[in-house]
Amino acid sequence: MKTPDRKGHGKKPDCGETMKVRFWGTRGSVPVPGKDTLVYGGNTCCVEIDLECGKKVIIDTGTGIRVLGDRMIKGEEKVEVHLLLTHGHWDHLQGFPFFDPIFNPATKIFVDGTPKCMKGLRAIFENKVGDIFFPVRFGELRARISYIDKLSHGPLRIENTLIEAIPLHHPQGGLGFRFQEDDKKLVFITDNELTEEAPAGMRPGDYARFCRDADVLIHDCQFTQDEMPKHRGWGHSDYAKTLDLALRAHAKRLILFHHAPARKDPEVTAIVANCQDLATERSADVVVEAAREGSELIL
Ligand SMILES: [Zn+2]
Ligand SMILES: [Zn+2]
Repeated sequence: MKTPDRKGHGKKPDCGETMKVRFWGTRGSVPVPGKDTLVYGGNTCCVEIDLECGKKVIIDTGTGIRVLGDRMIKGEEKVEVHLLLTHGHWDHLQGFPFFDPIFNPATKIFVDGTPKCMKGLRAIFENKVGDIFFPVRFGELRARISYIDKLSHGPLRIENTLIEAIPLHHPQGGLGFRFQEDDKKLVFITDNELTEEAPAGMRPGDYARFCRDADVLIHDCQFTQDEMPKHRGWGHSDYAKTLDLALRAHAKRLILFHHAPARKDPEVTAIVANCQDLATERSADVVVEAAREGSELIL
């Protein structure tokens, strides 16, 4: 992964070149700025995808979306995005009030994702406990924000990109997403516990079918195997289970995502090395990396 030009002023999304993914927030649960998270980042979940057709998708509005919003405004890009929400936990919503394009009347945001996601976005601004969280009400936002509500019922098509969803195994549910554009396949699944003991939910085999032949698979990897016994039912996976999914699906590149808040940079690096060793032991040629805030990958 290379580090993008964060300033990128005046640049329009690239058209007709390639699909690009940029990580603006890679952390799970809570933002953790500071010296221990300089490499992989401390902001919570936010990922930007520039489709080959020139359209832009943002997944989740964790705290990473603030910097993305600043860049979009400084770049004077006309902000027109599809915003896909995996679920409504705080670490996936809390940056939305600080995404400055919502205060610009020229902005258009098409929201889709998990059922109730629109309710979650509104609840940040309008709640039933006395409007104490934020001084602006949802109705006062200047952007045009519309809820398209397709992905929980079937596929969503953006020009020649087909986006499909799969339910997460996570407390209170959620959705993971698969993007197919021409011959490129990207899968993004976070906040997902891979286990055979998911009687009402999806099992690893179901996810492997969904992720089959992904060029890039971005998946939750909050825990190590040692940490799992105390965290079963939390809705997150360890790196061995995540690697197992990548191998079953024949994914070419695995990006570990949703780093635990207490995980320091060298510990994330060690997880990647362990994971790559496990892949080598199994004679698999998948490339393993950890999502790094500010980095970009190209499909
Ligand atoms: Zn999360
Ligand atoms: Zn969650």
